[in-house]
Amino acid sequence: MSECNDERCAKHGRVKVRGNVFTGKVVSAKASKTVIVERQIVHFISKYERYKKTRSRIAAHNPECMNAKEGDIVTIGETRKLSKTKSFVVLSVEKREEKEAAPEGREKAKEKKMLEKKQDKEKEAGKEKKREHAEGKEKKETAREESKEEEKTAAEEKKWKEEKKEEKTSEREQGSGEKKAEEQEKKPAKEKAGGKPGKQVKKEGADEE
Ligand SMILES: [Zn+2]
Repeated sequence: MSECNDERCAKHGRVKVRGNVFTGKVVSAKASKTVIVERQIVHFISKYERYKKTRSRIAAHNPECMNAKEGDIVTIGETRKLSKTKSFVVLSVEKREEKEAAPEGREKAKEKKMLEKKQDKEKEAGKEKKREHAEGKEKKETAREESKEEEKTAAEEKKWKEEKKEEKTSEREQGSGEKKAEEQEKKPAKEKAGGKPGKQVKKEGADEE
């Protein structure tokens, strides 16, 4: 903060500050002894009863003693026209940007971020591949299981059919035998009853109970 020989410095020069005083963030400090200060303005529009965000960019003179850099929060005061575009001068630096985010550091940080993003993307791609692989495996396994189950069911059906056939044949044999037996039983019963079948039925029911 040594004294500077800048005539356009608000402290050490002959420039008077009058008019507006703003605080804003230094967006660009590329030009020598000039900074672009940006400030956010919230403007109410009564017609729509809503707020509109706007921003203004002001070019301000940046004397050597101030040495404002990109990212700093800065107070600027209105002066006479200092150059074609400048009519403000940096009065004070309110907040210096952290050293980590200095111009060189920024580039490094950007590179780091890019690398991280790339790695993340690669990881995601790998995960997706793995997922696809796993899904494919699962599908194959399920298909195998299904085929096995189908085979099983087919075998069971065959067995079941064979069993049914056997049962049917046995039933037929049994049924035919029983029918013959019944017929044989009925014939003598009718003969014995001698024209009174109703009573006989009742008697049979009683016996069964
Ligand atoms: Zn100065």
